[in-house]
Amino acid sequence: MLDLVVRGGLVAMQSGPQLLDIGVQDGVIVALRASDAAEPLTGARIVDATDRVVVPGGVDPHVHTSSPMPTLGDHLSSYGPDRVSVAAAFGGTTTMLDFAHWHPGDHLSDSFARKDKDWKGISYVDYGFHGTFREPEIPFEVLDQVAEQVAEGHATWKVWMTNTTPYRKWQKTDIGHIWGLMERTAAAGAMLCVHAEDDDIVMYSYKRLEREGRTDLTHMSEAHNQLSELLSFQRVIALARHVGAPIYIMHVSAEVGVEEIRRARGAGQPVYGECLPHYAAYSDEAYGRPNGAMYHTYPSLKAPDDRAAMWSALADGTLSTIATDSVCVDLDIKTTGKTIVDAVGGHVGVEVRMAIAYTEAVTRRGLPLERFVDLTSRNAAKVMGAYPQKGEIAIGSDADLVLLDVSAPHVITASELHEADYTPWEGYEATAWPVLTMVRGRVLVEDGRLTEEPPQGLLLKRALGADVRNRPAL
Ligand SMILES: [Zn+2]
Repeated sequence: MLDLVVRGGLVAMQSGPQLLDIGVQDGVIVALRASDAAEPLTGARIVDATDRVVVPGGVDPHVHTSSPMPTLGDHLSSYGPDRVSVAAAFGGTTTMLDFAHWHPGDHLSDSFARKDKDWKGISYVDYGFHGTFREPEIPFEVLDQVAEQVAEGHATWKVWMTNTTPYRKWQKTDIGHIWGLMERTAAAGAMLCVHAEDDDIVMYSYKRLEREGRTDLTHMSEAHNQLSELLSFQRVIALARHVGAPIYIMHVSAEVGVEEIRRARGAGQPVYGECLPHYAAYSDEAYGRPNGAMYHTYPSLKAPDDRAAMWSALADGTLSTIATDSVCVDLDIKTTGKTIVDAVGGHVGVEVRMAIAYTEAVTRRGLPLERFVDLTSRNAAKVMGAYPQKGEIAIGSDADLVLLDVSAPHVITASELHEADYTPWEGYEATAWPVLTMVRGRVLVEDGRLTEEPPQGLLLKRALGADVRNRPAL
C-alpha cells in the first residue's frame, strides 16, 4: 500500500490535463493511474481531489526574506522565512528562492551558511539561495570560489546593474566585474540572474526630476524608464553572447525589454525573462491611487502598452516565469516613502501569485493549463536547476502538489492572508484558489489550516540541465 493517493483530480500533466490518481511513497510520486482504472491505487491516506485541478507546487524564483529596508534605515527588515513560508504554503507555492548576499571578507561558503541559518528549521517549504553580490567589485579570489559553490548545489547567482536610487551607495556591480562573474558562472554550468537597469540613465533621470520638482511617486516611471531597460538589456545580453553564458533577467517591465529578449532568443541565445504579477496587471497610473506606493517595486510600473506586452510575451514563451519579488512588510512600512527617492521596493504577493496567475492567464486570456504550470513552477524549476525534482507531476518527482478549487470565484482580502496586513489585490476575484498544499508528500495546508508542525522545509541542491544552459530551451 502507498503512503498517500490523491484521487480523482484533473491533473496538470505536461501533455495536458488528465483525470488521474497520483500515488505517493516516501515523499515522491511513484504512480500515475487513470482515475477510472479497474484497479485503483490504494494508500494509507486518500486525498479526495474530485472537482479540483491538481498542479505542481509553485516555484517562486524571486523572494527576499529578512531583507533590510534601505530607504528606512537598516534597523528595519522585512518578514522572515517563518512567516513568508506560511504564506507560500497557503498560496500553493512549495519552493522559494531567496538571496545569499556576499559580504566583503566572506568566503563564499560563509554567505550561503549565513542565509541557511535564517531558513533552517523554520521554513515550511523547500528553498534555495541565489549567490548575490552588491559590491562594485568582486575580488578575484572570490570569483575563484564560484565553481566550488555551484558544485555544492548553488546553481544561480545574481547581480544588480544599478544602485536603484541616488541615496543607496551600494548594490551595483561594475560591468567588468559582472563579466568576470559571468565567465565563472557559465564555466561552472550556473545561471546568472540580473537586475538590469542602466545606472547612468536612472541617476541622471533622478537629478533631472529633482531639479524640476517632480519627485512624487507618479513620476517613478520617468526615473526607472524604458530607455534604461532598453540600454541595460542590450548591454547585458551582448555581454552574455560574448561570454556564451545563459542569463535570467529579473522583473522585466517594458515592451522594449521584451523585444530585446525576443530578439536574443530568436538568435538562439539562452536568455530567460521573468514577469511580476504587478507589471502584468497594473500600469503607472496606479502610483496616483491612494497608497499608490503599494503597487511599486523597482524598476517601476510602466505604460499600458508595456503591461499588454507582458501578456503576449508570457503567452508566446518570450517570458518564462511569473515571480513575486516579495519583500513582505506591513502597509505602514510599505507606504512610508511617498516620493521617487524614498519609495519602498518589493511586493507582498507570495500567497496570491498562483491564484492571480491562474485567473489572468487561464481564465481571462485562455492560456492552457500547461502554460500556467510553465509560468508558475515548471520553467522556474528548469531555469533555477531544480527540475525535475520540482515543477512537474511525474514519476520520481517530489510529491509537491496543490489542489486548486476552480468551482467559484474567491475574493481576495488581506484579513485571510498570512504575509502582511495588506494586499494590493484587495477585492480581486480569483477564479482559482489553493485549498490543499503538499510538500514531499506531507500535507501542509488543508481546510484553511496549517496542519504540519514543526516546519520541515529543506535546502535544495540544484544543477542546471544542459539544454537550459545552451539554448532558449523554454
Ligand atoms: Zn528582488
